Amino acid sequence: MLDRGRILEFDAAVLASGTSHRPGVPRWSELVVYRVSDGSYLINRIGRSVFAHEDGCPEISWRTPRWIDAAPEEQALPRVPCPLCRPRIGPGGIDPTLFVETSRPRVMLPQNADAVIGILLDRSRPGLIPVMIRDMLEQLGRCGDPAIEAASRQINRTVPSAASRVPPALRSSI
Ligand SMILES: [Zn+2]
Repeated sequence: MLDRGRILEFDAAVLASGTSHRPGVPRWSELVVYRVSDGSYLINRIGRSVFAHEDGCPEISWRTPRWIDAAPEEQALPRVPCPLCRPRIGPGGIDPTLFVETSRPRVMLPQNADAVIGILLDRSRPGLIPVMIRDMLEQLGRCGDPAIEAASRQINRTVPSAASRVPPALRSSI
């Protein structure tokens, strides 16, 4: 597993996983909740994006490589032009000097079962859409870990409806 460039290795069981990916949406998040063999919990969140940018676009950061410098699996993704800088991506393929948004893995270490649920319910976290969280809470409710099952049962009734409006793609900046 990668965490902002570091490689982590651990023995763990997957308790729940989910994605906010939907067809045609250029940015999304993937989330996996693990129970580590020492009894602690770990959440891996991966921000994904297929946006491409022109040099100078305000959406580019120091972490945004040019396509030519990106990893092979990132180069293999079909790219979508950023709506701000509107790079031209022709049928012949992408200009290799364009900048591309790449996967951003991030590890969180919640201190206990309640903190795991708290991270899932934190509405300030970008990219965690209600239908995904609802599904993950459902998985956690029968994951076999008694503390997690109890914590998820406690809040299950307060989760926003899956029919809630999904935020526009650009608001889920990663
Ligand atoms: Zn752009």
